[in-house]
Amino acid sequence: MGKLRLGVSSCLLGKAVRYDGGHKYDSWIVETLGRYADFIDLCPEYGSGLPVPREPIRLVGNKDGYRVLRSEDGADLTLQLEQYSIASMEELAQAKLCGYILKSKSPTCGLEQVKIYSPHDGTTSKEGIGIFARELKRRFPYLPVEEESRLRDPAVRENFIERIFVVKRWWEMLSKEVLVKDIIQFHTIHKYLIMTHSPQHYREMGKLVAELTEHKIADFLPRYFELLMTASACMATVSKHYNVLLHIFGYFKDDLNSFEKRELSNLMAQYKDGLIPLIVPINRINYYVAKYNKAYLRDQIYLQTHSLEL
Ligand code: SF4
Repeated sequence: MGKLRLGVSSCLLGKAVRYDGGHKYDSWIVETLGRYADFIDLCPEYGSGLPVPREPIRLVGNKDGYRVLRSEDGADLTLQLEQYSIASMEELAQAKLCGYILKSKSPTCGLEQVKIYSPHDGTTSKEGIGIFARELKRRFPYLPVEEESRLRDPAVRENFIERIFVVKRWWEMLSKEVLVKDIIQFHTIHKYLIMTHSPQHYREMGKLVAELTEHKIADFLPRYFELLMTASACMATVSKHYNVLLHIFGYFKDDLNSFEKRELSNLMAQYKDGLIPLIVPINRINYYVAKYNKAYLRDQIYLQTHSLEL
């Protein structure tokens, strides 16, 4: 697999499929992420047979149960959209997606806080999830899925980018027969990355890998992937990053001379105090990794800045 393969709501790519005949072109998705990704785009409303332009639709009910109704005449489009959503999941399963980006607020694509209208008095609560988004989450509970609006938050965006690259490497490993050594290699190179998100999950995953034998691989893979994606969904924090930097420092501190040790310690402390960005100590570590030829660290995904541009 070369590029990332991402699902995306069609209107975010600039396709004029919205109810009003317009689109919601997102330049970051198309022009920046697009350099690294091939997109599989779906518009569930148009795909299920609704015309463009069309009357707007909305969720009506309450958080425990709602229908999709056409605003103008109350026509119930729930079944039509559900059937299309379920059918399209098979196509998406074949595509081996690394992630999905949905259009926020939509009664079809919105991932969270979609308005639900009360059938009694028309008041709204923001507790809905779009019909297509709900099916996507049900079918692929561990796939990285975000809305375009949330991706404007740098921390959410960074987390999403990390996760979609993790899934890409996972698919690459699964593209041929998986041996125990492949899993150990995968787990090893992701060590520090996982630790920045969840040290607890990292320990649990380590136990799972330690107990692995060839005949258990088929059972192992889904469990490991579940833990991997659950771990990576936990947000990394400064203190978790600092902890990982300490681990890395400990791994090769005996190679460093006293000046280098002091310099790296200072950079790490400055990062912890919010004075410099993480990339500064990481760049310095990478310099020492190259200087002292530390293969174990050189292979760590955590130290690779491939997603820097993103
Ligand atoms: S939000 Fe979803 S259903 Fe609405 S126009 Fe965009 S892709 Fe189509």
